[in-house]
Amino acid sequence: MNRGENAPLILIVEDNEVHIRLMCDLLTRHGMRVISCKNPREAISLIQKSKPDLILMDISLKEMSGLELTQIIKKTPSIARIPVVALTAHATKRDQENARSAGCVGFITKPINTRLFPKKIAGFLNNITS
Ligand code: MN
Repeated sequence: MNRGENAPLILIVEDNEVHIRLMCDLLTRHGMRVISCKNPREAISLIQKSKPDLILMDISLKEMSGLELTQIIKKTPSIARIPVVALTAHATKRDQENARSAGCVGFITKPINTRLFPKKIAGFLNNITS
């Protein structure tokens, strides 16, 4: 995958520092650029400024749920097209449906499978461009 300016930019919205570091490590090792945000209230302006190629959204954030934040993203025209992938420990059928109806294009379960994670993200990025 490309490095440098053309490398895909991934925004991780997640409140757990350990998870952020792990995902950041895995993605940068696979040539992606990563930024992160812990506070959902700061996410919208960060997304507008940085225009990431993909957003990884923790469902359980402290101030608002990741699904609520996803709904706001999908209602904000300037950023609505950016795909959001849900991150959660709860992977029931119901949770997957809730994530889809909030506007998420997919779902990644925690704990993260370190071998598959970068491949899954690359797969989501390929779906956007193809
Ligand atoms: Mn969380």
